[in-house]
Amino acid sequence: MSPKPPSPSSRYRPISRHYRERFGCKVYKISVAVAQSCPNREGMRGMRVCAFCDPWGSAAYEENASLTLREQIRNVRSRLRKRYKAEKFLVYFQAFTTTFQRISRLRALFGEALREADVVGIVVGTRPDCLSPAMVKLLAEFAGRCYLSVELGVQSLDDGQLRFLSRGHDAACSLAAVERLRAYPQIDICAHLMFGLPGETMAQLETTAGVLSAAGVHGVKLHNLHVLRNTALEGRYRAGTFQPIGLEAYSERVCAFLEHLSPEVAVHRLNAVASRWDQLVAPDWAREKMRPTQFILDEMERRDLRQGARFQGGRLPPGAGPVPSMAAIDPGGAGIPAGEIRSFSNE
Ligand code: SF4
Repeated sequence: MSPKPPSPSSRYRPISRHYRERFGCKVYKISVAVAQSCPNREGMRGMRVCAFCDPWGSAAYEENASLTLREQIRNVRSRLRKRYKAEKFLVYFQAFTTTFQRISRLRALFGEALREADVVGIVVGTRPDCLSPAMVKLLAEFAGRCYLSVELGVQSLDDGQLRFLSRGHDAACSLAAVERLRAYPQIDICAHLMFGLPGETMAQLETTAGVLSAAGVHGVKLHNLHVLRNTALEGRYRAGTFQPIGLEAYSERVCAFLEHLSPEVAVHRLNAVASRWDQLVAPDWAREKMRPTQFILDEMERRDLRQGARFQGGRLPPGAGPVPSMAAIDPGGAGIPAGEIRSFSNE
């Protein structure tokens, strides 16, 4: 029997609460793969594969790659119905970079997903540099018809750490992407972040929480950087130049981040679990889903911590001016050079 999930906490705002308020019931995500690549894998502008990314491009189900979208949705939906008695679903376009393809194809795929029974919305995983104006318009068009959330691979707001990850974009690019999406208040924005990066400090994470809150993101998804087989990170780990952090150190970072995050921001996930256990190299605790989550919740309880308890400052209303940069909020901290903000075109 699988372990019981940790009980919902009043110490932070879990995504389940955000969904319940929006849909009036529990909704489940159906992860699908419709993209087969990304700018990094194509070596565009001399980019390299992200240091942590395995050959499946973060796909939850590797078998999905050979199935049609309809088959993928129906397979996962029937599993979720059987296991959780799930009634409503969001189709999560997760693997690789969903928006790194033709707009006409994506429009057709989104439409196909929405025609499936009990699908109430769409979630699109992508990179900050794959949101051309035409692509954002397409997202806004669907956001006018259904719930639409963009999960943006921000990972860090420190350019040195982004280079370590070989992301191929800088922090300014991520903040520009958030600003571009915010012009359409009906689009939900979730920032993916990784903790456990070289040179990371508590002050940096606290500032990141403040910047993203002020920028107006609706959600964050937190990941502990872990080492998978066949990744550049594995080479560094074996060479002794990278060591993942332990659960206690990770928990401390999550607590500091949450305390400085606006209480309005939904938390999609407190920690990552390696979806393919046989591919996990380190740390061992990334094999488990519930224990690390419970560990963090216990820590918050023990220290009487709450999301937003140390949050200072407001959130930008939709359509307000440019989002603040790390450098503007924390001039002595991790400054972001005014990098070139690039965007791949999908027109
Ligand atoms: S993490 Fe995303 S952008 Fe990076 S290599 Fe993997 S699929 Fe490409």
